[in-house]
Amino acid sequence: MTEAVRTHGLFKRYGPQIAVAGIDLVVPAGSFAGLVGPNGAGKTTSLSMITGLLRPDGGQAEIDGFDVWRDPVEVKARIGVLPEGLRLFERLSGRELLLYNGRLRGIPKADVEQRAGELLRVMDLADAADKLVVDYSTGMRKKIGLAAALLHNPSVLFLDEPFEGVDPVSANTLTEVLWRYTASGSTVIFSSHVMDLVERLCDWVSVMSAGHIVAQGPLEKVRAGRSLNQAFLELVGGPRDNGDSGLTWLGRGKQEPA
Ligand code: ATP
Repeated sequence: MTEAVRTHGLFKRYGPQIAVAGIDLVVPAGSFAGLVGPNGAGKTTSLSMITGLLRPDGGQAEIDGFDVWRDPVEVKARIGVLPEGLRLFERLSGRELLLYNGRLRGIPKADVEQRAGELLRVMDLADAADKLVVDYSTGMRKKIGLAAALLHNPSVLFLDEPFEGVDPVSANTLTEVLWRYTASGSTVIFSSHVMDLVERLCDWVSVMSAGHIVAQGPLEKVRAGRSLNQAFLELVGGPRDNGDSGLTWLGRGKQEPA
């Protein structure tokens, strides 16, 4: 198995809070991989360390065999990233943003123009290509961010909650682009809370809980005959509080004390 991503004891703490507790994350090349876990499990922190955006306190991360922190140039040429809370150049149009990104990546001008045009069309952004990014909707920002992340044809693509705020038609388009991308041998790793989506798209899953990887492997193995949602609830401990013990004041029909 060739590995697109491999971490060894990757570790991060914020003061007393251990955000990522020394994880060994593995993603085989060519996978459509899902990183799932409850709020605060450490997904964003892990992805930030693996993509060179946040320095780990311990451990290593490798992309295609290159160490993220020792060979940053090799790694950055190979990855595309759609981070959480993506910051974009707001005063550029969508097309200008892509052309600028392409030039930063050293792609010849004619190639950038052709790729940008195709990406804008596929992402259904052709009509908004000359609109400023500041005027884009949440979903449009996700799509232009994804287009920018794909422009240099990376071999590994990292997406933090890529479908959040994206309408179903656009989500379908994104899915098709990503399927085609992985079918050619490239790798996608995305974090999500939407189990149905992960179950439908992914062939590899890593489940995080409280900074640890609690399950990892081919989707069928992690599911083990259950729905992914069921497997997830069992792995991360299920609902912590079913609500019976509080919120008695919430809802209609309760009398306020006189
Ligand atoms: P979500 O699904 O809610 O986005 P997540 O799995 O991506 O969550 P992280 O954002 O990685 O989780 O957070 C992991 C832990 O680290 C949480 O307990 C969080 O409070 C803590 N944490 C994350 N970033 C910081 C920070 N900059 N300073 C302090 N604590 C942080």
